[in-house]
Amino acid sequence: MRRGRRPKWMLKIAEERIDILFNKADDELTRHPERSNRYVEMARNIAKKYNMKMSSKWSKRFCHSCYHFMKPGLNCQIRLSDSSVVIKCLECGNINKIPYMKEKKERRRRKIEYNNTSKKGINEQIIINNHHKHRKIKNK
Ligand SMILES: [Zn+2]
Repeated sequence: MRRGRRPKWMLKIAEERIDILFNKADDELTRHPERSNRYVEMARNIAKKYNMKMSSKWSKRFCHSCYHFMKPGLNCQIRLSDSSVVIKCLECGNINKIPYMKEKKERRRRKIEYNNTSKKGINEQIIINNHHKHRKIKNK
C-alpha cells in the first residue's frame, strides 16, 4: 500500500471506526476485559494504517505501555499534580502524564463568566439552574 496521507473521506471513516471500537471497549471492560483490549488493539491498528494521530479523547483512555483500556476507579488511578493529570495504569504500573494547562485556562474563563452572570440578577440564575436540570435529565 502506498504511504502518505489518505483522502479525507477515508480518514473520516477510519476515525469513526476508531470511535466505535473505543466505545465498545468501554462497554465491555467490566464483563470482558480481554475483548476490550482487543478493541484497543484494533483501533490502534487502524490509526497506524492510516497514519493518523489518535484523538486526545481516546489516547488518554488506554495505557501506552501495555495498551489496556483504562477506566478510572477500575484499573487506573488518576491524580492531579501541579499542571498535569497523572494517570497510573494498575495493570502494568505505567505512569502517563497529561498537561492540563488548556483545561485550567478554560475553567478560569468559565469561572469569570459565571461571576458575570451571577451579578446580573436572580432571573438569569434560575435560567442557568433549569439548564443544568435539563442536562442532568438528558444524561440519564
Ligand atoms: Zn499498562
